[in-house]
Amino acid sequence: AAKKEGRRRARTFDQSMLLVLEQRELLRRSLRVALQHGEFFLEYQPLVDGARAVIGFEALLRWRHPRLGVVPPIAFIPMAEADGLMSEIGQWVLEEACRAALDWPAHYTVAVNLSPAEFLTAGFTDRVSQTLDLVGFPAERLELEITETVLLERTINNLDTLNTLSVLGIQISLDDFGTDYSSLSYLKNFPFDNIKIDKYFIDDLLDDEKSQTIVRSVIALSHGLGMRVTAEGVETAGQAAWLEAEGCDRLQGHFLSPPMHVDHIGQFVGHRKGRRTNAAPGNRAGP
Ligand code: C2E
Ligand code: MG
Ligand code: MG
Ligand code: MG
Repeated sequence: AAKKEGRRRARTFDQSMLLVLEQRELLRRSLRVALQHGEFFLEYQPLVDGARAVIGFEALLRWRHPRLGVVPPIAFIPMAEADGLMSEIGQWVLEEACRAALDWPAHYTVAVNLSPAEFLTAGFTDRVSQTLDLVGFPAERLELEITETVLLERTINNLDTLNTLSVLGIQISLDDFGTDYSSLSYLKNFPFDNIKIDKYFIDDLLDDEKSQTIVRSVIALSHGLGMRVTAEGVETAGQAAWLEAEGCDRLQGHFLSPPMHVDHIGQFVGHRKGRRTNAAPGNRAGP
């Protein structure tokens, strides 16, 4: 009976695996043509400073699949990486994000995520500076976000790449800090401008003293090293207030705004400006 049971379970397993594989194959094939078919688009999520003023937006990649609808990055970026497509897609993201940011207020930055394949492509830094020239976008307004995974290999070349980007005037952020292979040697050796504390430590911030201690320490550590700190995934007013009181430089998360379509940025910016002006006591008193 046990044998029979096992066989039945094995068959169910095989069939569902087959389905998953077929779906993956389907996704993989359509991914190859997605760029030519113009199926990618970007959403933008605001970053705010300690006074809740918008300082810029992070570009987040989405894929509008003709039949499946909008596919989140987690579902296709690893596949695109594995198939060697991410360098080309990343180049599209960079150009698209810089073009979009040309329409924003002149002090706003745009942050673009880099995948390892992109970062490790020969001539990557040349391509970045060519793109900035082509679009006419100032390097100082571009931030590139990399995760620690990107830095795992080829350490000396990585340092060269980051230094070159830095010299161009581009800001460099270490994304998802505190997860994966967090190593303090990265903070010592690489020229980051900004550390982004992973949402993992923000989620339970108000109930977990360990998270509080870790976040407090990362803020102190970053400031001691001359870097700014961003908290990712801020979802509540309580978290925002706590982080602001502790001197976190920037906040990002659904509490401030979820990622939005590029067409909504103008309205979002105008609306926030209005709200801030109206809320300012000096203005309410009026002349
Ligand atoms: P990330 O760079 O750490 O981006 C933050 C992710 O958290 C985004 O997910 C964002 O939508 C989400 N998020 C922001 N605030 C909140 C919040 O308050 N609550 C919750 N639950 N989530 C929040 P998304 O857009 O699905 O992107 C996931 C990851 O995919 C990104 O993580 C990044 O690593 C990668 N990614 C996105 N766009 C690109 C891209 O253009 N190129 C590359 N290489 N990677 C990208
Ligand atoms: Mg990011
Ligand atoms: Mg992150
Ligand atoms: Mg992430």
